[in-house]
Amino acid sequence: MVSSKHIASSELEAVCEAALLRLGYAGTESNLITQVLMYAQLRGNSQNVMKISAGALTGPAGISREETRVIQDGPLSIQLDGGKRLGMLVVETAVKEALTRCQERGFGIAGTCNTSSSTGALGFWAKQIAEAGYIGVVLSQSPEYVAPHGASQAVFGTNPIAVAIPTETEPMVLDMATSAYAWYDLLKAKNAGQAVPEDVGFNAQGQPTTDPGAILAGGAIRSFDRSHKGSHLALLVEMLTGALASGAVTHKATANNWANLVVALDPALLGPTAGFRSRASTLLAAVKAAIPLPDGPGVWLPGERGDANAARCLESGTVPVDPQILADIKAMAEGQLPEGAVGTPVPAARLANPLEAAAKVELSSTPCPPTTGRATGETLPEVAPNAAGVQLEGAFPDLQRHQGNGAVEAALPAHAEAPEVAQDATGVQFEEIFPAAQWHQDNISEDNVHQLGSPPPAAQAAGSGGSRPADSISTAEASTSGEHTTEGRDPRRPTMATRLCHPPRVTDDPYGSMSPPLYQTATFHQQSAVECGPYDYSRSGNPTRDQLQAHIAELEGAHRAFAFGSGMAALSTVLRLVPSGGHIVAGRDLYGGTSRLLARVAPNLGITVSHVDTANPAEVEAAFIDGRTKLLMLETPTNPKLDVCDIRGCCDIASKAGVLVVVDNSIMAPVFQQPLALGADISMTSATKFIAGHSDVTGGLLAVKDPQIAEQIYFFQNAEGSALGPFDCWLSMRGLKTMALRMERQAATCALLASALHSHPLISRVNYPGLPNHPAYALHSQQASSGGSLLSFETGSVEASRRIVEQTKLFKVTVSFGSVTSLISLPCYMSHASIPAEVRAARGLPDDLIRISAGIEDPDDLLADLDQAIQSAMEAVGQQPVPLHSPHKPPVDFDVTEQQRLQQRVKELEGLLAQSQMSA
Ligand code: PLP
Repeated sequence: MVSSKHIASSELEAVCEAALLRLGYAGTESNLITQVLMYAQLRGNSQNVMKISAGALTGPAGISREETRVIQDGPLSIQLDGGKRLGMLVVETAVKEALTRCQERGFGIAGTCNTSSSTGALGFWAKQIAEAGYIGVVLSQSPEYVAPHGASQAVFGTNPIAVAIPTETEPMVLDMATSAYAWYDLLKAKNAGQAVPEDVGFNAQGQPTTDPGAILAGGAIRSFDRSHKGSHLALLVEMLTGALASGAVTHKATANNWANLVVALDPALLGPTAGFRSRASTLLAAVKAAIPLPDGPGVWLPGERGDANAARCLESGTVPVDPQILADIKAMAEGQLPEGAVGTPVPAARLANPLEAAAKVELSSTPCPPTTGRATGETLPEVAPNAAGVQLEGAFPDLQRHQGNGAVEAALPAHAEAPEVAQDATGVQFEEIFPAAQWHQDNISEDNVHQLGSPPPAAQAAGSGGSRPADSISTAEASTSGEHTTEGRDPRRPTMATRLCHPPRVTDDPYGSMSPPLYQTATFHQQSAVECGPYDYSRSGNPTRDQLQAHIAELEGAHRAFAFGSGMAALSTVLRLVPSGGHIVAGRDLYGGTSRLLARVAPNLGITVSHVDTANPAEVEAAFIDGRTKLLMLETPTNPKLDVCDIRGCCDIASKAGVLVVVDNSIMAPVFQQPLALGADISMTSATKFIAGHSDVTGGLLAVKDPQIAEQIYFFQNAEGSALGPFDCWLSMRGLKTMALRMERQAATCALLASALHSHPLISRVNYPGLPNHPAYALHSQQASSGGSLLSFETGSVEASRRIVEQTKLFKVTVSFGSVTSLISLPCYMSHASIPAEVRAARGLPDDLIRISAGIEDPDDLLADLDQAIQSAMEAVGQQPVPLHSPHKPPVDFDVTEQQRLQQRVKELEGLLAQSQMSA
């Protein structure tokens, strides 16, 4: 038997989408189909990616491009003729139509007919309805494969039925077939040369058989539970779907007529929704708490086993797939379409990334780690491969769906809890030193953006005219405050270093304290019960936080800024801007926590993610899916490989496509790089790093250009309670004052270390965007004013790297960066360990990679420390130690030293001679 292999789920998605594009589906269609198939794949449901390789998604006539036709349209119902289009694509419309009616009138029903192929994974659709708060019922009727009870001839379809019910937590999703064995499992068994259980089917002559091929060749599957009741359930679906939705014809396979029925019902029709939900939850809890049979499998709720399987896969970021099926889909993605399939040529650019990603996929047989059950914490077994012939699946266990953009707007209260004035950047009182307090507002024009980006201001200030000498070390000259010239400056606006020391004043302070007041309070006393002051509750607004936020907005040239409990809290708030069903394009080399957010949180929100090379805007553009791509997530330079992407190029493309761009600017921080001025919509900075600067705060910042997006971000900051606490805001503000000084010193030191490491024989590669041999040195110089203070390097040996890291004394072995103390780490074992090994390998993240964050110590001390660590590591791995030469001191020349020693000796002898002459 062929056992499944585990593959990164993002890679499997990429291959599937590429194959579907080859088959001729549009980008949005490929993405939707992949989502549905992956939902099944993660749950061990046979309606999975196998459908692609089995040719189930292409009829003999190819893909229908007929429009879906409305047969009948009423206030509560709609009937759709699918025009032989794929069932999944038509059922998506049906779900939307049923939902719209339900939202308006409490009930909606939609029938589809004349579609090709089964919709599969019905739970996927029912769940969407339940997540909108309604009871969802989705039925599916398919060609004649199943014999009624007492008969040996196929009359019914496999006729799955899915019901999803909203509860107080995630919906309960029941999804089951009415046939004793799944059709795709028959196919699988046939391909694997396996027999199926007895009592599952008949051959064409009506004889019982265990040969799946004989069942498929004109035979029949028995109905679910092999009894008349199971058969009647199948008949019920056939009646409701086939008869009601007009799919009930004979020879449905050749007539290419599959049908669906979608019902959405508002529980409010029967009483208060809250009561319904709590009764539903109580009932499920009672079932779950029932005394289990002594040797039984335990008490399962609908969907629980599938959820457990999906959760394990999400946890590991991988999904099991049959290697043969994977190979077949890959071949299709490369253009080898199955016989009879009518594919459409796909522009190479659209396929470049998925194929490249697929080529890099490394299969591993590592099983998903065990996970625990939803209610009891017990370890759940993997979903049995449909041995009972029943496909069970359900909702993602930890699903916390957000409502999407439209719903967010609708959900925004007319009067948000927090006081308007405190949250409004225009209400900020700027100190007199900035007469043009709104400078940033009127200076984010295209012209200004151009000035900022090319050539970099620091390069101008350093007199290099924008093109640095090829062998220069960028940061040595890249200063933000060391520009001792007024040339090219906006006379109205002091430089960053000055502005860092002069925060805008948000609240009146009667005492004029030099340090901003710290409002370490959760609540604010109100003058009366009916009149609220500017602040009431610190989750919604706090003067110390407002002070920090206003300062960040001013520094970044943003409309508003927001402070969160960590960089990840900030990024996950950005994720909230993407509606369910949306798509994100992100880079390949990302901070481990961001990778985890995209791999394991985004899918729970119904969001798909494509990873591309963001250094190549054309690749970014090719990954956009019409109508679905909502967010482009850039990180530049990246952590830990220090790759650089073209912020302006990507933003231009994204803005044409209406895609929001967020740039993770944690490594450069606003001192060295200003993403909003380069076209980004949101600039994110982990305040944990350079802003606070002393390893004593975790915080994250979002600087937002557009007022409406800012409003949404504020909504989530308040609604989810993710804001940064007052004292951490205060510490961050203190950090800001010295940030330029620290960063310049750190960057200059880092450039020195990079240069020294670059010429050492043990070091096979140094990643530092301030080194002229960095592949993106020119691009980085255009968009940032320094190489920064982070570098990474490879030794070719994990053991040597480990020893270097452990042998250093001044560099502290720790995750993170940006501290006044120098830090060293092995990212693959520390900050990026949450990325599965095979994904790391596919992204070219080697285990021997060492990352250094330069601190503010004496650079010579740091060089000496690194020198001794490298030499002792070389010794330990059996290599002749070679010293690390400081680039600003010539390598020690033995002859010179000897000469100096002799000169010293001559002096000593002369002294002795003089003494002896005096005493004589
Ligand atoms: N982005 C990058 C590039 C990071 O390196 C990190 C943390 O190391 C983060 C985001 C997340 O920030 P935080 O640790 O403050 O949540």
